[in-house]
Amino acid sequence: MTNPATGALLAEVPAGGPAEVAAAFTRARAAQPAWGALPFAERARELRRFARVLRDDAKLVDTLVSENGKPRYEAELFELFYTLDLTRYYTGRAGRRALRDDLRHPLVFSNKRARVIRHPRGVVGVIGPWNFPLLNNYADCIAPLVAGNAVVLKPSEHTPLTSLRVAELWRTSGMPADVFQVVAGRADAGAAVAEAADMVFFTGSAAAGRKVAQAAAARLVPVVLELGGKSAMIVLADADLARAAHLAAWSGFAGSGQVCIRTERILVEAAVADRFVELLAAEIRSLRQAVPPLADTPEVDVGAITFAPQMERAQRQIADALARGGRVVTGGGPVTQVGAGRFFAPTLIADATPEMAVMREETFGPVLPVMKVRDAEEAVRVANDSPMGLSGSVWSGDAARAAAIARRLETGSVCVNDALFNYFCVEAPLGGVKGSGIGFRHGVEGLRQFCRLETVVEDHPLLGWLSPFLGRQLTFPYRKRSARLVRWFMRWFY
Ligand code: NAD
Repeated sequence: MTNPATGALLAEVPAGGPAEVAAAFTRARAAQPAWGALPFAERARELRRFARVLRDDAKLVDTLVSENGKPRYEAELFELFYTLDLTRYYTGRAGRRALRDDLRHPLVFSNKRARVIRHPRGVVGVIGPWNFPLLNNYADCIAPLVAGNAVVLKPSEHTPLTSLRVAELWRTSGMPADVFQVVAGRADAGAAVAEAADMVFFTGSAAAGRKVAQAAAARLVPVVLELGGKSAMIVLADADLARAAHLAAWSGFAGSGQVCIRTERILVEAAVADRFVELLAAEIRSLRQAVPPLADTPEVDVGAITFAPQMERAQRQIADALARGGRVVTGGGPVTQVGAGRFFAPTLIADATPEMAVMREETFGPVLPVMKVRDAEEAVRVANDSPMGLSGSVWSGDAARAAAIARRLETGSVCVNDALFNYFCVEAPLGGVKGSGIGFRHGVEGLRQFCRLETVVEDHPLLGWLSPFLGRQLTFPYRKRSARLVRWFMRWFY
């Protein structure tokens, strides 16, 4: 493993394969029943304690910054803070309520009631990407753990060190053995996880996600896919342009653009487009790009490119945009004077058109195109003309109008007059539509999906005395009188 910002060797990590994954699942299956049988409050207490262990660890954030190349502030805000907040949410009242038994009372057969029980599914396999080594890796294990599952996490082969540190802390802080395990490895280890898990939670590319879904389908186990996006930012003429430009820069270039819900394309009403591009260019030029220091100083805005192929993808999209009449306003290519590692200048492309690759394919890097649109109608049409639908934002001085436009976007979640903050709204589900995935994280839904439902139908405590009578009337031997009663009831009641 090397540091993408400095090129320095960080560690040698042996790649686990199918055998290591199988062994982890065997251990997890042995450990899960005791964890699943604990009362909610005890699991919650343990996970909150562990979140504090992560918060107080001197090495965790350093490890994350070194292997990913993002600024320390981003590692703390996006990843560690989020991990603590998600733990708070799922181990609190919302989590307890979401997991407790539901009682349902049928109207017609009111002598009965149904108890809906939420059991853990067993061992959940979580497969993570490299752009968020904590947030899209351990943090995605919190909900399945709260629900009583054991988890085997397979982090990205490009950033396994953060997850390995989390696993070490799990072991050394007295958390229940084997309930959470990490197997570092490549795609074959990921495939082995998808072959063994009782449910798979996958975050990554559409190509790998499809394979994971096929493996899950063959075994009829549920799968959540959190894939890529092409999120549009719609800026209407009456928007606060300065604020929109500021947030466009942040949501486009945080994490060097390697953020799934980042602003991937901007659609601006023609009347204000030139002014907006000017403001955004000024914002981008003010960004400080450097090797992220491990020291506690937030003086870097943009760090390195974590994954080498992202450099070529950004260059290819810029060349394609130029060939189709686009204009590079600022940035435009790799930067060599910043550090020995991989750096790419935050790049703004004006005069973008819908057929450009940068407007159609996921960039997931530091390039941001701006396209002029006639009006809000055209903006909605262009935004929805995408095979993906993950996130987005709508900007207007009239928040109600922006919210009405937001509802028309084919996307999993969207911000009004803001960007990226949808990831921090852990109370609401966040996921993709169309090619951006299936299922979600966050919210009550994001916890309950890690449960297997069992419905137990029993006599109602007050009206159950009717059951023997109804049982005699409605079952063998069939009688004319019963048939008449059923026919009469259907006519009268429905
Ligand atoms: P990737 O698909 O290459 O790898 C993701 C993980 O899947 C890695 O751990 C990898 O080893 C594993 N993997 C690869 N092939 C596999 C297979 N056949 N079976 C099982 N596992 C396999 O993706 P990446 O490059 O690490 O991540 C970038 C992508 O992730 C981008 O498209 C980005 O938008 C997306 N992403 C989405 C979200 C979200 O929440 N929607 C969040 C972060 C990243």
